[in-house]
Amino acid sequence: MRIDPATLAHLRRDLMRRGATLATLLAQVLAGKQPPALAALLAQKPGKRPEEVLRLALDQVEACRRLLDAGDDRYGRCGTCGTDLGVAALGEMPWADRCATHAVM
Ligand SMILES: [Zn+2]
Repeated sequence: MRIDPATLAHLRRDLMRRGATLATLLAQVLAGKQPPALAALLAQKPGKRPEEVLRLALDQVEACRRLLDAGDDRYGRCGTCGTDLGVAALGEMPWADRCATHAVM
């Protein structure tokens, strides 16, 4: 395991918090609201519908959580090239699944 258990537990907690936040935003959007926190997310994905952006973001969080829980070495690596994203970057974004080169805009 290249990430120590305490760090993994911390990343998992932040990952779950992100998932809960996204789920709340999705529920608000589906209820016809425009939560202010949504603007930053949407700015990264121009032209996509809010619920689509939120569902994709939730899928990404869930996929990361599954890898993390399975002790899968692919957690924290780029899904395209396998580069280790590093604990510092994961600390910022535990749901990261692409390196800078392969980040999908
Ligand atoms: Zn990559």
